[in-house]
Amino acid sequence: MQSKLDSSVQYLKSVGPKRAESFQKIGINTICDLLFYFPTRYLDRRTIINSVKAAKYLIDGYEGEVTILGKVVSSEVIRYGKKQLFKVSMKDNSGFYECVWFQGIKFFKDKFKPGEQYAISAKPVLTKYGNLQFAHPDFDKLDSEESREFLNTGKIIPFYRLPKELKAKNIGDLSLRKIVSFAVENYSQYLKETLPQNIISEQSLLNIIDAVNTIHSPKNNEALIEAKNRFVFEELFYIESLVAMRKHSFKKNIRGIKFKVAADPIKKFLSKLPFDLTEAQLKVLSEIRKDMESGKPMSRMLQGDVGSGKTVVALIAMLIAADNGYQAALMAPTEILANQHFKNISNLISHTNLKANLLIGGQRKSEKQKNLNEIKLQESDIIVGTHALFEDTVDFNKLGLVIIDEQHRFGVEQRFRLMKKGTSPDVLVMTATPIPRTLSMTVYGDLDLSIIDEMPKNRIPIITTLRGEGNLPDIYQFIKDKISDGYQSFVVYPLVEESAKLELKAAEEYYEKLKSTHFSDIKLGMIHGRMKWKEKEEIMLKFAAKEFDVLISTTVIEVGIDIPDANIIVINDAFRFGLSQLHQLRGRVGRSDKQAYCILISNKPVKKQKSLFENNFEYMSKAQIEKYKSQIRMQAMTEYTSGFKLAEIDLKLRGPGDIFGTKQSGMPELKYADLARDSEILIEAKKCAFEIIEKDLKLESPANQLIKEQLKKYYTEQLKFSFIG
Ligand code: ADP
Ligand code: MG
Repeated sequence: MQSKLDSSVQYLKSVGPKRAESFQKIGINTICDLLFYFPTRYLDRRTIINSVKAAKYLIDGYEGEVTILGKVVSSEVIRYGKKQLFKVSMKDNSGFYECVWFQGIKFFKDKFKPGEQYAISAKPVLTKYGNLQFAHPDFDKLDSEESREFLNTGKIIPFYRLPKELKAKNIGDLSLRKIVSFAVENYSQYLKETLPQNIISEQSLLNIIDAVNTIHSPKNNEALIEAKNRFVFEELFYIESLVAMRKHSFKKNIRGIKFKVAADPIKKFLSKLPFDLTEAQLKVLSEIRKDMESGKPMSRMLQGDVGSGKTVVALIAMLIAADNGYQAALMAPTEILANQHFKNISNLISHTNLKANLLIGGQRKSEKQKNLNEIKLQESDIIVGTHALFEDTVDFNKLGLVIIDEQHRFGVEQRFRLMKKGTSPDVLVMTATPIPRTLSMTVYGDLDLSIIDEMPKNRIPIITTLRGEGNLPDIYQFIKDKISDGYQSFVVYPLVEESAKLELKAAEEYYEKLKSTHFSDIKLGMIHGRMKWKEKEEIMLKFAAKEFDVLISTTVIEVGIDIPDANIIVINDAFRFGLSQLHQLRGRVGRSDKQAYCILISNKPVKKQKSLFENNFEYMSKAQIEKYKSQIRMQAMTEYTSGFKLAEIDLKLRGPGDIFGTKQSGMPELKYADLARDSEILIEAKKCAFEIIEKDLKLESPANQLIKEQLKKYYTEQLKFSFIG
């Protein structure tokens, strides 16, 4: 009886039409929606200690959080000098303790009435008077009946997110808990199973009714985990089904191009290179070659850290395509990068009779038209460009290979649009952002994976340090001293996000300031995001030609730019960059056999917090991670050069939501699963989903109807790329 679940929450006890409206505002319309409004936190009796014990823990050197349950005795606002603080004195069955707030006093002042019961969680300290004190703790109000029951029976109490829309209708923690609990008690029995029965039993999962009940009122922690895992599995199972469909709808039954790989042109090409390919490059090349020779369309991801030499591998694949009479397209995320690729490629093929063309948005009409004609008439063999490549006006004559550089900058959809321009062309996507295994199994699960796990031999690991703004004069001097050794430097100036105008102003001010002070006697250039690509390109070319010693820059240099003599990069305001962005920026240097330096500048005092990162990171709570995020990022940068390691840390720092958060990934946002935590479940879910899809790609068998139904209901957007979409 699904209909009961589909009725409005308004009919639930103590809801009514007015409150139902505010539920609607937060996306809860039906009773069913409410059943899936899961708690975000729980209070577990067994994790609660009394205040005397907490104080003893502290004396013993314990540094973690504790939870204490007690009653408010009194509260007061205390003034000291010009400041004030709000202090609440509390008491539990073993003694007294206090909570203090230095900010948001107005907000807290009206809470904490004498006699009220609260659960307080935080990392406590002992004051100089020997009092146990919690500063800015998490707190949950409990009613006295509830807390008695809670204490006596050891119940676990759920806490739900309480948005302001609900608060406005006088719904507090307690009333929300009661409303949900009423719904669960009276309606959860009508829930229909959303996973096939055989999967539930094979995987020993809880059925949906038990799982929902347990999530809202778990008997113990083990039961809670079991219930949560059922939803994690379910979510990942459906996502992996999509991945499997995406993978197989291209491979099965589709005839690709069987390229012939002739040794001569490749040998000749390699002999013109100023270096030998690394073992890793050779290995990857042979994987690509096998794909190209086979009759199935290649869909492969080439993953390799910044500077590992992906471009040359891609180029050889393009040569193979061209040698077979096909066109190859290389798509780059920015015009400046497309242009760099175009220049390099043109140089490298100058000894052949192949022709490369560039196609980007910023070109003059006539120039573009000429390019379009040549592409159409197949006078052009290798076409390099930006997303301009998949515009409707671009008509390839015989597109056989598509290569996408810096894949993470493009969406899945763009990849598919470019592929449609040929008849099942081979596809190679490249990324410098190393993708943790859990992600390559999900977002990119439809791609085969090749990894360049070795840097060219001449490379020396980049030295990365963190310095305060006060050190800048010394750093500028260092940059100047190094010029005589042939070093060039990037100085990335502080981020300005507010507006284009402001960004320009900031860039100019920063440039002028350095020009008139530390860098008055050297050749100084500037590049920023507000320039047209031609201007940017001109500057980069000048920099490459050593017309500047130092380039003041925004993050436009982030992706792919290759200047071998640039061996110092200073990143101002480093705290404000993400980890992968920092790693990308750092990748701009260290591309030669000279020692390179990456200097991160912090505008906060630099504290060396060794223990924070080395010892505790793995065990830090989410709240702590949140608090120390930027510090951890800086420390990670100084300690690791491996992009893979950094990506793992990044995944942990950003949490799962963020990864699927962008539309880019073409994947739904994760509601229950945390890829950093749930990798084992992911592997199971993947196995299970792939087995089913491989046998029944279109989900036609009666046993799979539920799966089909669920996918159609919840993943319409993603099904575009599959047979049943
Ligand atoms: P990325 O993988 O980041 O795209 P690139 O392909 O731009 O890196 O290569 C970085 C630099 O390393 C380029 O200057 C390239 O010519 C050079 N390079 C590539 N392969 C090798 C190699 N095997 N030995 C030495 N240098 C190499
Ligand atoms: Mg590159």
